[in-house]
Amino acid sequence: MKYIVVTGGVMSGLGKGITTASIGRLLKNRGYRVTAVKIDPYLNIDAGTMNPAQHGEVFVLDDGGEVDLDLGNYERFLDINLSSDHNITTGKVYQTVIEKERRGDFLGGTVQIIPHITDQIKEFIHSAAAKELNGEGPADICLVEVGGTVGDIESMPFLEAVRQMHGELPSNEMVLVHVTLVPVDTMGDHKTKPTQHSVKALRELGIAPDIIVARSDCMISAATKKKITAFCDVPVKAVISAITAPDIYQVPMEMEKEGLADVVIEYLGLEKREPDNTWYRIVSREYTSRITVAIVSKYGIEDVYISIKEALKHAGRSLSTEVDIRWLDAETFETADLSEVDGILVPGGFGKRGIEGKIRAIQYARNQKKPYLGLCLGFQLAVIEYARHVLGWEDATSEEMGEGTHVIAILPEQENVDMLGGTMRLGSCTIRLKENTIVERLYGTTDISERHRHRYEVNPDHIADLENAGLVFSGDCGMRMEACEIEDHPFFLATQFHPEFKSRPTHPSPPYIGFVKACRDRRNAA
Ligand code: GLN
Repeated sequence: MKYIVVTGGVMSGLGKGITTASIGRLLKNRGYRVTAVKIDPYLNIDAGTMNPAQHGEVFVLDDGGEVDLDLGNYERFLDINLSSDHNITTGKVYQTVIEKERRGDFLGGTVQIIPHITDQIKEFIHSAAAKELNGEGPADICLVEVGGTVGDIESMPFLEAVRQMHGELPSNEMVLVHVTLVPVDTMGDHKTKPTQHSVKALRELGIAPDIIVARSDCMISAATKKKITAFCDVPVKAVISAITAPDIYQVPMEMEKEGLADVVIEYLGLEKREPDNTWYRIVSREYTSRITVAIVSKYGIEDVYISIKEALKHAGRSLSTEVDIRWLDAETFETADLSEVDGILVPGGFGKRGIEGKIRAIQYARNQKKPYLGLCLGFQLAVIEYARHVLGWEDATSEEMGEGTHVIAILPEQENVDMLGGTMRLGSCTIRLKENTIVERLYGTTDISERHRHRYEVNPDHIADLENAGLVFSGDCGMRMEACEIEDHPFFLATQFHPEFKSRPTHPSPPYIGFVKACRDRRNAA
């Protein structure tokens, strides 16, 4: 197993996750099997209890792990399925060490950051790296992204563990990549001082980077690279200029041009191979049409729905259709905003705020025959909308939202749950699709597996009434309704599951393909 550890300097938000995923893609294009681990130096056990408006989307894995959104990027770029063990948090490390202490595993010893916490970190990294990858044995190379910025108190034990690993492993088994910012001053000159300082901070921790990825608005010159070389002891070929690409999937191509793959391969003593270009062809397919879709949500922050954004992009690329997203605030949008778009999407969400607006948007999509895609809460609200306006049950609502006729009710196994962390219905399960429905035609099969994250479901007591009124439940997991659609509409599909979590550029998600195609057909017919 070879390791590529990625650290960040100067400031957060430099695209360390995309850089990590892109390095993985470069190696994967050369036939190497690559896996990835994200370290999040916070005390939460996982991202499940974190506010997405502050921290970004909570990504859900097959095994039900609620993890940092970077794992979504790894899965999408590398076309792999990760597990909860691939997201190491301070919370998980301390919890494990403290459990061991209580069991008496360290009997007599004083439990300390070094060696107990650092040993645990190394054990977690090695065991996540060694995990089976897509059912074909372990990977050849493991990327390890250390979240946060060098100098943060929180990341110290992790960087110490990295320092120890570096000493323990043969020199061609670990490469250290440092991602930093090279800002441009008012005169238009690139400034290397922040990079110098962050490399200095790393060195003080006993870590010297092998490769520096310099993030900047425009390509850095040979002279600037030389300066970084002089101050940071990294050869010119290992200073990689990384500008902001118009699309994240173009980042690997840019890094290829800068020679990043060659340097990594040389340092890790890997065999040189010609890269395969299939992935580049897929992600840069020409657009011949363009559509606009509205996403109606209560959050003003797009990071909350990264996977949806990406899934629309994947489906769009496969149909040569550029998807423009208009983010509509569920509490303030006007009907006119909906009339301008080609399709309407209501994503997942929690709590009461904004739901009446979302229901109004769904009603508009149904009545005006505009393509609609509902996801999780967007599925539940489609059922509520149908109950209210087709069945005439004016007080139809979800048990989550308060009093009324609960067409959406708490899952029986959730009734007595009092711990919030990791207790929802989470992860993948097999869903049966009804033959000759929109969703079955899109998947091309009746048995699918998709990921979940919810506590409520369609109330089994009301399924028959809803079906008799024309709502088609086209997917289920036994008594649990998983998808609904309506006939006599160009495209109205909603799912209790989250198909976006499994969408990849190489495997766009079927419901998203159906939605984008319906929007495009509508636009072309207009
Ligand atoms: N709040 C709803 C539930 O818990 C929907 C969850 C979601 O959209 N992820 O069932």
